[in-house]
Amino acid sequence: MQKKVRILIVEDEVAIREGLIDVFVYHGYDVDFSGDGIEGLKKALTGTFDLILLDVMLPGMNGFDICNQVREHDRDQAIIMLTAKSSDDDIIEGLTLGADDYVSKPFSIAQLLLRVNAVLRRTRSVIQQGNTISLGDDVVIDTQNLSGHCGKDPISFTRREIDILIYLLANSERPVSRDELLNKVWGYAADADLETRTVDIHIAKLRRKIEVNHSEPQYLVTVRGAGYRLIGSI
Ligand code: CA
Repeated sequence: MQKKVRILIVEDEVAIREGLIDVFVYHGYDVDFSGDGIEGLKKALTGTFDLILLDVMLPGMNGFDICNQVREHDRDQAIIMLTAKSSDDDIIEGLTLGADDYVSKPFSIAQLLLRVNAVLRRTRSVIQQGNTISLGDDVVIDTQNLSGHCGKDPISFTRREIDILIYLLANSERPVSRDELLNKVWGYAADADLETRTVDIHIAKLRRKIEVNHSEPQYLVTVRGAGYRLIGSI
């Protein structure tokens, strides 16, 4: 089952809040909201949200103070501030307190969704510790035992699939072409005129194992015209 991205919207202006709720529900997010600073903080501190959209001027407690308290509690919580004015002071204060990004009102929905996706990509990190690769919160892979789990589902891998993941992870700052994968992972000569479909088939199998929604990959992404990339690791 696909795990929805959970987003908390803390915004007291009803028209903006309702608009945001509609947009994120429409795009498949699991949405909670508050129009009050103190209630918003209480919800934010539950730690159950992938992302918090936080207005600055709120009744009860302002967005900067909320951001500060959330950060003390969980420094990895993704937060985007919604600043009412494009005043540099607001923006600098928000970012100093540890918001991941800010969007100035009035903002376009397209612009906001781009920012949201960028922040979520950064925070859904790829982590390698010893023989373990973690992708976001969902996927854990044991590279030695060729096993792992995606959510609660156990998964098993072939040695080749693990080698592909390890190579992509080692080069995660850039896309890796099919030819390079054939060369480095399969060991074929770099200039061999080979059927790169072999690579695509392995990637498709990997996606069915490690992606929550394999038709919309979050971790093992295609970079058009360039190859494949394991994203999240910065
Ligand atoms: Ca406000």
